[in-house]
Amino acid sequence: MLQETNILTNLKTYFGYDAFRGQQEEIIKHVLAKKDALVIMPTGGGKSICFQLPATIFKGVTLVVSPLIALMKDQVDGLNANGVSAAFFNSSQDDSARIKILEDVAKKAIKLLYVAPESLIGLQPILNQNYISYVAIDEAHCISSWGHDFRPSYQQLGFLKASLPNTPIIALTATADKATRDDILTQLKIPNAKAFISSFDRKNIALEVRPANKRIDQIIRFIEQRPNESGIVYCLSRKTTEQVAKKLQAKGIDAAAYHAGLSFKERNDVQEDFIFDNTQIVCATVAFGMGIDKSNVRWVIHYNMPKNIEGYYQEIGRSGRDGLNAHAILFHSYADVIQLRQFANGSSNETVQLAKLDRMKQFTEATTCRRKILLSYFGELLEDNCGNCDVCKNPPQFFNGTVIAQKILSTIYRLKQKEAIGIVVDILRGAKNSTVLDKGYTSLSTYGICKDISWKDLQQYIIQLINQGYCEIAFHKNNALQLTAFANKVLFQSAVVSLTKPVDFSEKKAEQIKVSSKVKQSKDSLFERLRQLRYRISKDENIPAYLIFNDATLKAIERERPMSQTELLAVSGVGQHKLETYGDEFIAEVIAFMQSKQKKKKEDTTLVTYKLYQSGLSVEEIAEQRQLKVQTIYSHIAKLYSQGKRINIYDFVSQLEVDAVKKAHKELKQTSALKPYFEYFNETLDYFKIRLALSVIEK
Ligand code: ADP
Ligand code: ZN
Repeated sequence: MLQETNILTNLKTYFGYDAFRGQQEEIIKHVLAKKDALVIMPTGGGKSICFQLPATIFKGVTLVVSPLIALMKDQVDGLNANGVSAAFFNSSQDDSARIKILEDVAKKAIKLLYVAPESLIGLQPILNQNYISYVAIDEAHCISSWGHDFRPSYQQLGFLKASLPNTPIIALTATADKATRDDILTQLKIPNAKAFISSFDRKNIALEVRPANKRIDQIIRFIEQRPNESGIVYCLSRKTTEQVAKKLQAKGIDAAAYHAGLSFKERNDVQEDFIFDNTQIVCATVAFGMGIDKSNVRWVIHYNMPKNIEGYYQEIGRSGRDGLNAHAILFHSYADVIQLRQFANGSSNETVQLAKLDRMKQFTEATTCRRKILLSYFGELLEDNCGNCDVCKNPPQFFNGTVIAQKILSTIYRLKQKEAIGIVVDILRGAKNSTVLDKGYTSLSTYGICKDISWKDLQQYIIQLINQGYCEIAFHKNNALQLTAFANKVLFQSAVVSLTKPVDFSEKKAEQIKVSSKVKQSKDSLFERLRQLRYRISKDENIPAYLIFNDATLKAIERERPMSQTELLAVSGVGQHKLETYGDEFIAEVIAFMQSKQKKKKEDTTLVTYKLYQSGLSVEEIAEQRQLKVQTIYSHIAKLYSQGKRINIYDFVSQLEVDAVKKAHKELKQTSALKPYFEYFNETLDYFKIRLALSVIEK
């Protein structure tokens, strides 16, 4: 019982959260009972707290083995910002820094120590249970040669159990497959570790697949609706990352390219700038993102189709770690499929790669809930449709496409099955380009028979016919379209073909205009002000903005508008240490925002009065229309007049009255309070006249 309250208190004090997510609580209790564990959770699921929170309770150090130096630094910065003493130990440090750490561990002055596997050797003097309470192996899949990130240095970690036989080990990873899992247990010598396998569903990430036509335009439109939102555009090649970044920059979008061809320093700078919110968008090859914990990545775009579903899911998982809505768009094109097939051809595990590519392709072509397909790939069955993918939101509209199918298939037939998609579309549309003319295709009987269908739609119909098995791409014959046995049924036995109407992304314009006016509004929202404040602090303190408060916490502050320390502490994501460090600044920002809003409201209300006054209404009529008191309208008039607006003030107050108030003004020592004047005139001059006269005098 004592421990239970303890872990909740520590969750709030150090991490600012009021409740555990998913299996966190169960895992933490298991850890505190000093038992081995294997934790499998998707990226962004909340693995870190599973070992960081117990570390705040254990007497000794929790040793965290982590593969990437950049990741270590971020986690340590994050912990220190939460008031948990943490350090890292790796090859980037000099001897004196390393000695200092060993001393701190001996003094029990550190709660968590992050170490790269190569550097464990340097920790020999403290690698015993007097100092180490617990060991966490982060990114544990790196131990397995089955995994996609195999790291040889991880394979020597088996010695940990030998050196620390009574110290429990927790292994954590986002990779679920069985072979990797078994490998982790065997190699770490924790065969009886309890496995905690969480759902892989990341409900907050909206899934969308779009055809790749004019993808740059689509991307620009998407980004323009989301100013200031961090995002990643994944591309297949180095060259594409640079081209895409350039095109975005040309539109004034803040984007940088990242790929393995850049120097270490260049890559590091891009990554740092992204983490620090200095760069909004990174166009990268898939090498980018591993080891980035940035919680406010709001979207991920796949400019090219990924090689497999594992990669795709891991990449989109880098968005929305804070649990707020995030967006994943995948552009699919047949050219990409062709290129990926070429990459796979001749590789050592060609069959596996091609099979995986096929599953990826099926995902992009789905006409049923995409999340169901994704999760089933990871062995998880979703009962209901997700409601947060493009298929759920925009269910495909099927129609009888038999005639279109017949036209397409007979064109393929007449072309002797020798031409690729593009030419087939050109012929159907009656195009007059050089290939069509040179090869004499204008004389084909199907030339121009689908003039009424757009190029894009025809292309989509052909892809649908491929997906339904009526024709196929002969990859080894210049990607020529060929008929299958199935096609005969359509051409000669009048089989019915169902097609779906392609979604037109230009139709979405109306919707987008709505969004963009919303975007304008949000520019001076409280969230934006809080974000700016966070950015300033992050610059001053040289730590990534999201480590100060993540976006979810800023949203909660915006919603709840805390104006005192007690109120701020009640906000999810605000812990004791951050309250003390940053609380006052954030509270001040909330208060300033509320005041400016009120001020603005007052200004606005006088402006409404001014508009009505200009349109010729009397004070009484304005009051009636605005459902306000006549007195209030007079005070607006006075104010507008003293602001220099064109008001015929003498319509409301006479020169005599102004002169009388002027005299009183002197005698009353220029007070601006109204009551003394009212009494001075023995209650014979109305308040509103006094106010109007004063505005004349002030002016
Ligand atoms: P992972 O390591 O599994 O990818 P993290 O540990 O980085 O995920 O957690 C992802 C995000 O979720 C972080 O911003 C973290 O602060 C937040 N988070 C973790 N646990 C909770 C919780 N119980 N309540 C709210 N947010 C949480
Ligand atoms: Zn769905």
